[in-house]
Amino acid sequence: MGRVMADCRRFESESRCSLTIIGEEDEVVRAAAQHAADVHGHENTPDLAEQIRATLEPATSYTPNERVAEPFPG
Ligand SMILES: [Zn+2]
Repeated sequence: MGRVMADCRRFESESRCSLTIIGEEDEVVRAAAQHAADVHGHENTPDLAEQIRATLEPATSYTPNERVAEPFPG
């Protein structure tokens, strides 16, 4: 599997976060979970990691353009 992406622009957040994390799946899940806890007030739990894992996209889906935000699942 190639690199994957967690893109905060894809999800609604009060801070309208623009962060995009790209890397190997485990790296991205770990960094995104820390980020979600640090910036977005989530609890860094195994459940959160699984939710993040479920939202990962291929790194090739990256776009520099704005994205329409949707609610974070779960
Ligand atoms: Zn964010």
